[in-house]
Amino acid sequence: MKKNYLLLVTLGAFAACGNLPPQTEQPKTDGFSTYRAALAKENDTEDAEGLPVAGGYIVDDDLTVENDTALRDYYTNFVLTQNTLASNLTVAQDLIVAIVQGRDDKWSAAERKKVTYCVSDRFGARKAAVVASLASAMAAWENVADILYTHDASQDTKCDPKNSHITFDVRPTSRQSYLARSFFPSSARAQRNILIDSTAFSVKAPLTLTGILRHELGHTLGFRHEHTRPQAGTKCYEDSEWRALTTYDSASVMHYPQCNGTGDWGLTLTPKDIAGAKKLYGVPN
Ligand SMILES: [Zn+2]
Repeated sequence: MKKNYLLLVTLGAFAACGNLPPQTEQPKTDGFSTYRAALAKENDTEDAEGLPVAGGYIVDDDLTVENDTALRDYYTNFVLTQNTLASNLTVAQDLIVAIVQGRDDKWSAAERKKVTYCVSDRFGARKAAVVASLASAMAAWENVADILYTHDASQDTKCDPKNSHITFDVRPTSRQSYLARSFFPSSARAQRNILIDSTAFSVKAPLTLTGILRHELGHTLGFRHEHTRPQAGTKCYEDSEWRALTTYDSASVMHYPQCNGTGDWGLTLTPKDIAGAKKLYGVPN
């Protein structure tokens, strides 16, 4: 687990949390407790009325694990095995897709045409900027791959994790360790949120809200951080639960520049990002 020292587009719900057997009491001094104590906690996930509905741990900068049980699963499957997984990594052939339970984490052919979202009215004066940046960032992906995001503005007044009328919600947050965070296609509805921290509205060029959202939306399509690939070195390694779609791309929109990347904070799609997205989803039709 790396810590982010620079601005990070920390996104989404980590999707690789499977079912666990009944949890047994753990001694307070075990490795898991130490690991858990060091994690940032997302504590303001709330519904339209401002009531807490979730609150997860932040792992891999911009992914969340929703509770202690799921975190123990993540710890067992990824943190404890990280060293051995790293030594087993082979040089793969830019864009990589998450693997969950042995399969690509992506929207099915039917799902990808009806991915709907709301944009919380709680953004207030910033809402118009969020709506516009989302539309621009989504177009970058929609123009190259067969995916369609649809804003259901009728749900903006109750835009929260419990709203089952939309695929995901986009809400404001503050005082988080990230600029924004996202989710993967396999995430449960409650975790399918894009949360935008207040700091994301005051970033400096070349970083922009639209760029941040291009990266976050990449996660919603199943794309993992490119810097977890072996060619990026071990600085930002996360795990090996992914499959390569193209050769390594140090400038990918999914690669943090500070992780031995060669892109900038403009966070734009590279030719390999485009090729990988087409490979996973096909061309727009
Ligand atoms: Zn990310």
